[in-house]
Amino acid sequence: MENELLNLGAMALRKAALNEEAKAYILSNPKLFHVLKKAADRYIGGETLEETIGKVKLQNEKGFKCSIEFMGESTRTEIEANAARDEFIKICQEIKQQKLYSTISLDLSHIGLTVSTDLCRHNLNLICQEAAKGNIEVIISAEDAGRTDAVLHVYNEIVKVHPNVAITLQAYLHRTQDDFKEVIKNKGRIRIVKGAFETPTGLSLPRGEELDHVYLGYVDKLLSENHLCSIATHDKRIQHEAKALIQQYKTKSDVYEFESLYGIQYDQLLQLKEEGYSAKLYLVYGKEWYLYLCNRIAEYPLNLFQALIDIVE
Ligand SMILES: Cc1cc2nc3c(=O)[nH]c(=O)nc-3n(C[C@H](O)[C@H](O)[C@H](O)COP(=O)(O)OP(=O)(O)OC[C@H]3O[C@@H](n4cnc5c(N)ncnc54)[C@H](O)[C@@H]3O)c2cc1C
Repeated sequence: MENELLNLGAMALRKAALNEEAKAYILSNPKLFHVLKKAADRYIGGETLEETIGKVKLQNEKGFKCSIEFMGESTRTEIEANAARDEFIKICQEIKQQKLYSTISLDLSHIGLTVSTDLCRHNLNLICQEAAKGNIEVIISAEDAGRTDAVLHVYNEIVKVHPNVAITLQAYLHRTQDDFKEVIKNKGRIRIVKGAFETPTGLSLPRGEELDHVYLGYVDKLLSENHLCSIATHDKRIQHEAKALIQQYKTKSDVYEFESLYGIQYDQLLQLKEEGYSAKLYLVYGKEWYLYLCNRIAEYPLNLFQALIDIVE
């Protein structure tokens, strides 16, 4: 009964996140906006890059590496895709100028993949060139399963030219078994995540022991080959097992990183950092925080209580 309610609540939140009318109402209602923004602040860098840089500096001082993303995806026009590209270029310039300890993360569909592959390739190339000037890594996110081929196609091309590009693979997709074998041939960092999107039946593993086992299999392979990797999960048991693998392979801290979303299970990451492991926080910023907040609560409905606390405090 409790689980059923939690699942229904999570589904309702995902629906609310995509409801344009609700979103427009909240964004146009100053009181509601203010209240919900208080809850969102726990999970986002801010609405602007400037706000985010403030948070990144704080976390850098505490010894965390960071990754910055300007939120957005599925841009429909070349103008929008180019505007996003320019924002990512600005992030690279600020990271370099302000000497931040940070990479950048992005969705290829944000910078043109949904308009044309050529546009996306062109924009990614410009971003990687700017990033290279500051020795900054550019990490490509994994999107829904319908886009995996297109994303990997662009990645496999660009990584040959720009070694500072990294890719995210979703452990829950069955196809990742094959994609992994191809992707690992390149030097670029591989970030392993469980996977966040609903998929058509038969394409993915559900959350559970089998997925955790598969996830750790990828981590084991990456660490055993001393391949740059990111262990991007909040799953305490996986983090624990990964620590054992890092010790077993005597992996140096510049090869791997434990990576968490900003505001999620922070104490676990802090603990890892204090034990001497390389730890990184992923911060997103932008005006679309409403969607981001709903998703963070939907994937862990107990966060609703945290949101209430943040709102009344
Ligand atoms: C750095 C980073 C980058 C990512 N990039 C992508 C991407 O490009 N593509 C993609 O599909 N997915 C991405 N994800 C999301 C990922 O796929 C998972 O959906 C997400 O990390 C939750 O799964 P989990 O590994 O934490 O394990 P889960 O099995 O979902 O959760 C394990 C435990 O972690 C804790 N936890 C999980 N989520 C929350 C939460 N919201 N609040 C509080 N506690 C929580 C809980 O204790 C839970 O029991 C990324 C995640 C991270 C950390």
